[in-house]
Amino acid sequence: MLTIGCHLSIAKGFAAMGADALDIGANTFAFFTRNPRGGSVRALDLDDVARLRAIMEEHSFGRLVAHAPYTYNPCSAKEHAREFALQAMREDLERLEALPGNLYNFHPGSHVGQGVERGIELIVDTLCTVMEPTQRTCVLLETMAGKGTEVGSRFEELAQIIEGVCVRRPELSDLLGVCLDTCHVSDAGYDIIHDLDGVLAEFDRVVGLDRLKAVHINDSKNPCGAHKDRHARIGEGYLGAVELGGGEDVFAAIVSHPALRDLPFILETPNELAGYAREIELLRGLSDAASCGK
Ligand SMILES: [Zn+2]
Repeated sequence: MLTIGCHLSIAKGFAAMGADALDIGANTFAFFTRNPRGGSVRALDLDDVARLRAIMEEHSFGRLVAHAPYTYNPCSAKEHAREFALQAMREDLERLEALPGNLYNFHPGSHVGQGVERGIELIVDTLCTVMEPTQRTCVLLETMAGKGTEVGSRFEELAQIIEGVCVRRPELSDLLGVCLDTCHVSDAGYDIIHDLDGVLAEFDRVVGLDRLKAVHINDSKNPCGAHKDRHARIGEGYLGAVELGGGEDVFAAIVSHPALRDLPFILETPNELAGYAREIELLRGLSDAASCGK
């Protein structure tokens, strides 16, 4: 069975997210570890976390994909911004120990004119400082669209970050992975519409498919190579809309690909819960049809 869910609001707590997930037919979900704008964080309610863990166990949820707020920039040129990212990530990882065995996804950041190499160096520094070999959360670098000075839109850049951490702290190797965002990789110029196999073979060659731990499944408001990062609902963008050159078969191939089908899929489409429920149903249907057709 496909492990799929969407980004949910943490406003009402952990157990409420579990209940929302069940309501929409999800068996995983994503959530911001703190308010994406403010950065403040409320005290962890361990009873609430325990209620979520019971729901997850009872309903055989897959791994959750916690999301660091977009406001973290571990490769900023400003020291106080880097310091904030570092402290916040360390705190997030400490808190996630209450929900062991899940995933923590972050945007590698923007080098803001310092150059990709310097950006990568700073991201490696941050990861080497905040991660601990005893942590039970796997940290994922997200594939980026390449807007502005974003680091991580090329597989080579992600590989360099992972390599950089592994050279300095080999004991962290098993705790590092990648989350592939379908909107971002397409925007970055990887043609997953016509050549998903080729893109994944390239990922395997450069990063290694064993590093791939989660998928953000989104349509894109822009064509391949646009470097924009604007998510569309499934079937309403360049990946899924026939009139834009895509189609349902693009998403069928994604959810049934042997390298992807067992990973958690997270929707980050512009939607309310009812819209997410429809997309989950659609993608489950495409996955079932693909596995019957084989
Ligand atoms: Zn994403």
